[in-house]
Amino acid sequence: MGTQERIVVVGASLAGLRAAATLREEGFAGALTLVGTEPHRPYNRPPLSKSVLEGDDDVSLPGSEEIDADFLGGRGAVRLDDGARTVTLDDGAELPYDGLVIATGARPRRLPGDRADLAGVHVLRTLDHALELREALAGVQGRVVVIGGGFIGGEVASTARAAGHDVTVIDAAEPMARVLGGTVSSWLAGHHRDNGVDLITGTRVTELTGEDGRVTGVRLDDSWTVPAGLVVVATGVVPNTEWLEGSGVRVDDGVVTDDRLFAAGHADIVAAGDVARWPHTLFGDETVRIEHWSNANEQGAHAARNLLRGPLEAVPFSQVPALGTRVHGTRVQYAGLPHLADASTVVEGAPEDGRFSVAFTRGGVLVGAATVNFPKELTRLRKAIAAGESL
Ligand SMILES: Cc1cc2nc3c(=O)[nH]c(=O)nc-3n(C[C@H](O)[C@H](O)[C@H](O)COP(=O)(O)OP(=O)(O)OC[C@H]3O[C@@H](n4cnc5c(N)ncnc54)[C@H](O)[C@@H]3O)c2cc1C
Repeated sequence: MGTQERIVVVGASLAGLRAAATLREEGFAGALTLVGTEPHRPYNRPPLSKSVLEGDDDVSLPGSEEIDADFLGGRGAVRLDDGARTVTLDDGAELPYDGLVIATGARPRRLPGDRADLAGVHVLRTLDHALELREALAGVQGRVVVIGGGFIGGEVASTARAAGHDVTVIDAAEPMARVLGGTVSSWLAGHHRDNGVDLITGTRVTELTGEDGRVTGVRLDDSWTVPAGLVVVATGVVPNTEWLEGSGVRVDDGVVTDDRLFAAGHADIVAAGDVARWPHTLFGDETVRIEHWSNANEQGAHAARNLLRGPLEAVPFSQVPALGTRVHGTRVQYAGLPHLADASTVVEGAPEDGRFSVAFTRGGVLVGAATVNFPKELTRLRKAIAAGESL
């Protein structure tokens, strides 16, 4: 156990909450502060693109009500001095620390020219975003255009279709092709179309058009404009690391850590969740930044335990990433890192039956799996990936 007396956790969402709770569970009895830009107590994001859009307000995150820490909500860290060991907040307050957990997550990427000033243009990351989008969907006149066919774009498109809207999804490639490979993304493309979504692929958005301060369309690189009553920009996220500029913490599309989640070169700073980039020992030390719930959940706890143990006793983090979504009611899941694969094959079921699993291998060794309507298969393949099995 380390000798910290004051630990600061920056970022009050899933990873930060789990870190704070774990510090207490592991016996840390010193001063603990949890800082978060959002005014809300930590809440659960997955429902934001699912049940919340359908009218259910439950975003509760177990453990959020009884945080045994000073919770500073609505306040953001703007500077880290890792020499003096202080975090400066946006109101000028300085928080000294012996141990620091960085859990500042990520925010939606904006497109060049996506005109955030236009009414009717939405992103989806926070509870406030979701409530705004829900209200806008209820009153939308015209087509809902979703830019980006990834997990969140796919979920928003499904919800909007189920509510009876005309929906267009625009993506440079078939949905989730980079993450899930060709077989699953082709199936997904057909699934969207079968469910009435107008899916436009192989094109890029150049700008949003507007009239009287309201969005009216999405212009594509072939000069065609898709008319829009409401636009959701779902083109991925960027990690929240600006506050670390000028500090000695290394940032490269996320906070770069070692395999035990210590910020490179720091024995008193760990990072966890969507903001952390670490070398994954299971995948040949490939550095990864994972934007999934179970990763943030486990990593927040793991980083906290390692911070208390100190670098010498710390344990590498090597959980196999996994994510699930529902697109027009069908369960799509994946595990591991399919994008590392040099080969993939359907191992069970068949795409034409709408129930199948795909295994991804690199040099014959399993590195990823994707399933459609086949949760049992995902569990089996995820275990096989963790065991480093060959196909
Ligand atoms: C709509 C939606 C649906 C999702 N659905 C799924 C799903 O079905 N399955 C799944 O596996 N994953 C899903 N995810 C992803 C999952 O929610 C994230 O992986 C998880 O929230 C990451 O947690 P985190 O704590 O690392 O970061 P975040 O949740 O991004 O939280 C970071 C927090 O830090 C705060 N912050 C940022 N900068 C500062 C600063 N300088 N000072 C203080 N605070 C700061 C932010 O305001 C934020 O509250 C979804 C995400 C979204 C947005």
